[in-house]
Amino acid sequence: MTKTAETPALSPVPACPVCGRPAAAETRPFCSRRCADVDLARWLGGVYRVETDERADENFDG
Ligand SMILES: [Zn+2]
Repeated sequence: MTKTAETPALSPVPACPVCGRPAAAETRPFCSRRCADVDLARWLGGVYRVETDERADENFDG
């Protein structure tokens, strides 16, 4: 039986919670200031429209 170590040795750099890219030292835990703004906007309201590659596909069927 193999037990997984609690310390992720294969991830020296935390992944950006927004796009998943390796975070930068200056903008941790984000990869760039843009992602930091995106995350901040989400926290503030989540209704803000940020220029991202995300496609706003909202199918509200109800
Ligand atoms: Zn990012």
